[in-house]
Amino acid sequence: MKTQVGIVGAGPAGLMLAHLLHLRGIESVVLESRDRPYVEKRIRAGVLEQGSVEMLEELGVADRMHQLGLVHHGIELGFQHTRHRIDFPTLTGRSVTVYGQHEVVKDLLAAADQRGLPVMFDVTDVTLHGLDTDAPCITFMHEGEAGRLECDFIAGCDGFHGICRPSVPKGVLTTYDRVYPFSWLGILADAAPSQNALVYMNSDRGFALFSMRSPTVTRLYLQCRNGESIDDWSDDRIWNELHTRLQCSDGWKPNEGHITQKGVTPMRSFVTEPMQHGRLYLAGDAVHIVPPTGAKGMNLALSDVKVLAEALSRFFSRGSVEMLANYSAICLRRVWKTQRFSWWMTSMLHRDPDGTEFDHRRQMAELDYVTSSTAAATALAENYVGLPILFS
Ligand SMILES: Cc1cc2nc3c(=O)[nH]c(=O)nc-3n(C[C@H](O)[C@H](O)[C@H](O)COP(=O)(O)OP(=O)(O)OC[C@H]3O[C@@H](n4cnc5c(N)ncnc54)[C@H](O)[C@@H]3O)c2cc1C
Repeated sequence: MKTQVGIVGAGPAGLMLAHLLHLRGIESVVLESRDRPYVEKRIRAGVLEQGSVEMLEELGVADRMHQLGLVHHGIELGFQHTRHRIDFPTLTGRSVTVYGQHEVVKDLLAAADQRGLPVMFDVTDVTLHGLDTDAPCITFMHEGEAGRLECDFIAGCDGFHGICRPSVPKGVLTTYDRVYPFSWLGILADAAPSQNALVYMNSDRGFALFSMRSPTVTRLYLQCRNGESIDDWSDDRIWNELHTRLQCSDGWKPNEGHITQKGVTPMRSFVTEPMQHGRLYLAGDAVHIVPPTGAKGMNLALSDVKVLAEALSRFFSRGSVEMLANYSAICLRRVWKTQRFSWWMTSMLHRDPDGTEFDHRRQMAELDYVTSSTAAATALAENYVGLPILFS
């Protein structure tokens, strides 16, 4: 089998890249290790920056998002039992859309079917070859048969646990990371959201986040200890803790409902540089992870592939290698600014188990500043709605 771009991974990065390339007349094949139902049901991120919304519109796959997504014009920051609104349109003229990552993936897959874009599921033993040559290839097993995909370029969009990043020879990549001393316990509940803005709450008992996925489904998170077992958290314990942490002086609280999903996710910041080696280009979680506090993971994956699609287009249409050579440097400018924002939101809102009273008072001062200064609120808002995606 031959194609121009072999894409490993059918997450948001891999599927979006396949569509962006198709729009520019470039062929690709996507290889995915999981089956389609698993990929379409995997619950993860849920906030789309305006730039991500515009990308889906540009691809003509935004109809369901416009129908089912919830446009949010702000968030609320809570501390000392009071919520303070950060209003995005007033501060930036932009907004975000709440729409589940699995819905984005479903839409991209449905459009791939319609457009005849090849996506192969249940592929195993994916191995990269010839990354330092002009003719790399990917070998794999599919339905009991050995496959070989010859390509001009390989896009490693296979997430944090994928095989593309480890395929780069030792000594080429440098990793920078931070593991946080807490995790997130997340639930999905069949309960109508009790208001239409996300609430990020710094409480004495730790961070809590109120969010939603649809007019009938609430998504809630609690800061918990690393290594905590979900079995120790009965539904009653979760609701009690949520009510305690989110308690507000105006009486607002989340609606309760049947919990349909729960899990614990560790928090880390992680960047590997450079984001390319030879003819392999890494994008999304394969090369960087952000803590979810800034709602950036999926958005960052989409912005990487927007840059990559443009660089590949310049190569295939006019033989220009300049942007491909600068792919890593271009992406890393945005990646590091997004890392900074995600780290800052995380540090401002969570209780560090080793923190002191000084740290707590500094956090309160920071929240007071962000919610009372237009300049500080604007800085938060412009990062939250998404920094521009630059091509240089
Ligand atoms: C539990 C969880 C909760 C999250 N919650 C949030 C959130 O609330 N907000 C937020 O902004 N972000 C969140 N994130 C992060 C966000 O979901 C990711 O940033 C986003 O999925 C990145 O997209 P991606 O396409 O780069 O990687 P992925 O979505 O990980 O996709 C990679 C794909 O590659 C496939 N793959 C892996 N190995 C191979 C292989 N060897 N061969 C072929 N295919 C392979 C995988 O099956 C997967 O389909 C969360 C992540 C997790 C894990």
